[in-house]
Amino acid sequence: MKSYREVLVFHTDSRRAYINITPKVESALAKSGITEGLCLVNAMNITASVFINDDESGLHRDFERWLEKLAPEKPYSQYDHNGYEDNADAHLKRTIMGREVVVAITSGRLDFGTWERIFYGEFDGRREKRVLIKIIGE
Ligand code: ZN
Repeated sequence: MKSYREVLVFHTDSRRAYINITPKVESALAKSGITEGLCLVNAMNITASVFINDDESGLHRDFERWLEKLAPEKPYSQYDHNGYEDNADAHLKRTIMGREVVVAITSGRLDFGTWERIFYGEFDGRREKRVLIKIIGE
């Protein structure tokens, strides 16, 4: 069995962002030389997510509004976590949107459903964050 590991680094200008990282994962898959197996992609930070959904800007604005209803950023004082930090909402948003995705690799390609794309969800940006890609197979 072969195994390949790569770490992506993100540093967004905004507190929140939704970034299509599918091309970066496809690039890692090509470098791995693996054609049958599994590809794990996970956020390495507890205020960011990796998730699969549609690459459609309206939907991303809907995610933003929905997450702000469930876990509003402000007022910061509403959260027990915000003693030294102001990012309790980001931890909650990350929990809702998930930590990782696993995609099957078939014939050297990510075996997606029709509109599936991989996204990095940033909920407390303006600093360096990492995403792990781990690919195993043959
Ligand atoms: Zn925190």
